[in-house]
Formats: sequence, C-alpha cells, structure tokens
Amino acid sequence: HVSVALFTADLRLNDHPPLRAAVDAADAVVPLFVRDRAVESAGFAPPNRRAFLDACLADLDAGLRERGGRLVLRSGDFVEQVCRVVTEADADEVHMAAGHSGFAVRREERLRSALEASGRRLFVHDAVTVAVPPGTVTPSSSDHFAVFTPYYRQWARVPLRPVAAAPRRVPVPDPVRGEEIARGAVSGTSPGLPAGGERAARDQAAAYWRDGLDDYDTVHDDLAADATSRFSAHLHFGTLSPAELVHRARRHGGAGAEAFVRQLAWRDFHRQVLAARPGAARDDYRSKGDRWRTRRTAADEIDAWCEGRTGYPVIDAAMRQLRHEGWMHNRARLLTASFLAKTLYVDWRVGADHFLHWLVDGDVANNQLNWQWMAGTGTDTRPNRVLNPVTQSKKYDPDGAYVRRWVPELADVAAPLIHEPWKLSGLDRAGLDYPDPIVELADGLDRFRRARRKQP
Ligand code: FAD
Repeated sequence: HVSVALFTADLRLNDHPPLRAAVDAADAVVPLFVRDRAVESAGFAPPNRRAFLDACLADLDAGLRERGGRLVLRSGDFVEQVCRVVTEADADEVHMAAGHSGFAVRREERLRSALEASGRRLFVHDAVTVAVPPGTVTPSSSDHFAVFTPYYRQWARVPLRPVAAAPRRVPVPDPVRGEEIARGAVSGTSPGLPAGGERAARDQAAAYWRDGLDDYDTVHDDLAADATSRFSAHLHFGTLSPAELVHRARRHGGAGAEAFVRQLAWRDFHRQVLAARPGAARDDYRSKGDRWRTRRTAADEIDAWCEGRTGYPVIDAAMRQLRHEGWMHNRARLLTASFLAKTLYVDWRVGADHFLHWLVDGDVANNQLNWQWMAGTGTDTRPNRVLNPVTQSKKYDPDGAYVRRWVPELADVAAPLIHEPWKLSGLDRAGLDYPDPIVELADGLDRFRRARRKQP
C-alpha cells in the first residue's frame, strides 16, 4: 500500500496531519512537491519567494532523508504531475492540506476528479495552514465574519486539534524519481533575505519564545525596536504551524502571548473572508459600483513611492526596507498603504502588486485584504481613516532610529525634525540630498475627502 503526501503551503515535518495520515495509511510514502506552472506564470513566484522556497524544499528534503525518505520534486501542471507520480508509485491515496484561495480550491477540485477517475482517493486535511479553518465559526446572518472583533471572540473559543509529532520514518518506494532541488542563488533577490526552511523557523521560534514574546503587547508597534516575531514568511510557506504556535503561546501565557495570538487570529480572519469571497483577491470587497474608477494614475508619484523617495521619511524608510529585506514592519505597511491609497489616491491594487513582488511573506489573503482594509474598500469599520505619516512616525519612531536606519541621507538630522526635514532651516535643508515632499498632506486629504463625498 503506497500513499502520497502532497506538500503545498505546509513545508514542514512537525505538526503535519496530511503527512502523518499518509504514513499511518501505507507501507511506503511519496512526499511530493510540485512547482506549479500556473503559479509561476501568474507571476506569483518572484525572486524573493522563489529563493525562500528553494531553501524550504532543500531543508524538507534533508529532514526526510534523516527519516529514510526524500522529497520528490516535479514541475509543470499541478494535477498532471501529481497523477503521474501516483501512477509511477502505484499509490492508492493522496493526502494534502486544504487551501483557501479561489485558485487553491479549484486546483484541489481538479485533482480530486482526476484521481477519482482512476480509482484513487484524495484526502484533504483541514487546520494545517490555519489554526481555525474558514467556516468553523460564522455569524448567524452571513457565511463569514466581516468584522474582526466578533470573529476573534468566537475564534478564541474553538478547541484546536492537538499538535501532531513529526513521523520517525518516511520510507519512499524506489521507482519514483524527482528533479534536482535547486541550491544555487536566485537572481534579483533582496540582499537581506531571511533563511528559509523548517529548522531555521524552529530555531527562530525558540529564540522568540525565550526573548521576545513577553514584550509583544508593548513593543510590537515600535518601528525601531523591530520586536515582532518575523514568523510571517514561515507561516506563508508553512515551515511553522499556526495551530502549534497558538498552543505554544497559550502555554506560555501573559499579555504578550495573548496579543500575539490575536495577530494570528487576524491571519485566519482574512482567510475566512477570502474563502467566502474569493473575488476579493482582485476586486473591491465592498464594491460600490465604479466609485474607485476615479482613482489617480499618477505614474511619477507611484514610482517615487515604490523607490522610497516621496520626501516623507517614514514612508521612504519603509519602502526601502521592503526592497532590502523582502519584509516590512506591520505599522510601516499600514502607513505606506494609507499614503498610496488615500493620500495619493491611487488604486490599492498598484500597491498590493508591488508588495507581492517583494514580500517574502507575500500572501494573497493577508496582502490583498490588508490592503483593502487600509484602502477603505475592505473590512475596516472606519474606511475613511487616513494615517498621517508625520504624526505616526513621531509616535512609533520617536527618536527617528528607524528612519535613520533606512534613509542614510537623514542620518545627521535629530528628532523631531527628522520626521519633517522640510522644516529645517535654509542651510541645513539645502545640505541634505533628500527630496521635498511629492504631495502636501493637506492636499491629499482634501482630494480623498472630495472623492469620498462624490461616492454614492
Ligand atoms: P507579528 O507581529 O509577529 O505577528 C505574528 C503573525 O501574525 C504574523 O507572522 C502574521 O502571520 C500574523 N499577522 C500579524 N498581523 C497580521 C495582519 N494584520 N493580518 C494578517 N495576519 C497578521 N502579512 C503577510 O503574512 N503577508 C502579506 O503579504 C501581508 N501584506 C500586508 C499588506 C499590508 C498593506 C498590511 C497593512 C499588512 C500586511 N500583512 C501581511 C500583515 C502583517 O503586516 C504581517 O503579517 C506582519 O508584519 C509580519 O511580521 P511578523 O511575522 O513579525 O508579525
């Protein structure tokens, strides 16, 4: 009896119910990952995520080899490749994790029909890439929660499945061959990328439980402290298990752990929105006809935003961090998104695409729905909120250390003027090689208010 453990966004051995089930069901298991051509041709495997993925696959393969197996890697059409491996291994069943985007659900349905047509079975396991699967809690009046707080109240009461230990042995049947796992550098990546793979993830997590978690509630918004977990890329690729993280943080206890668990619930929240409204990956979640068609194109301003030269120091620092590390602090994501979508009044999709190109954690549910939240087209109950980059940077980067780290042109400017260098006196200002603001905040605000008033 042979089974296939099909890995997708869950590149780990610990707490992996599909792998456990595949091992328990069979004498031999084919651990399989398919580089899906559809994902690559949709531009969804840009250099940063590709490099991180390669590291995850190499690490997964190493972990499987320690257990008597290895990872089988294939590329091409997802369903076709899985079916080929199933035939070559003469497997009876395939185990995989449930996905929650429209793309993942359609792919899973195609695979199910193809396997069933040849008398094989597909088992789809829930709660692998989320702690609480979409649909587990729903309000009485709708198929999903549109507001986070009531969602969170119910989410927090759901009993989580126990953590599954990594299998000791994963014996692979002989005849199945795969492609070489890439170990070289990928071109076009950010210089400061994090290390991929489950081992790196677990080391990082161990350090965070020890040194970071207790202060999470008080410092997570402090830009310079950089004190969040940075688990996001590991959660995106599944080298960390969300359910295991929630169990672990709850066991740890305290206000820091509680605030951290709440952020993990945001991740599940966006997934249940996307599962119920798959179109929200591209369309406005709250659609009011063509109201957003009036958004500006403003190519020069978009370029300045992308390249970190808007003349607003905290915005420029954040956009440069994104390119350099493939990551950006959550507060900085909020500020840069508010600036693009509201102050410049540019379509949120322009910003979301730029983020998806660079972010190692770039994720359809989290990225598109957080962008929509900030643009006022999503689930924010105060869609007209505009974040002021000057007051916010004075609050969340009071000494200017975050700005100084990423905008060396301002290295010698003291706080508070580092947040608004255009106020420096003539000679000091003239000596700086740093642009004037590309837009007046007051003008941006006026434009946004006028546009909102015109909407039906
Ligand atoms: P921590 O603060 O340590 O939080 C722990 C985990 O909770 C994160 O790893 C993440 O999985 C989850 N989480 C935290 N905040 C959020 C949130 N607002 N929404 C959903 N989950 C959250 N996150 C992504 O994973 N991928 C994206 O593509 C992405 N794009 C974003 C775009 C915008 C405009 C905004 C405002 C936020 C975006 N986020 C995205 C959410 C959040 O900014 C990141 O998850 C977080 O900054 C990652 O850093 P961390 O792991 O140190 O987070």
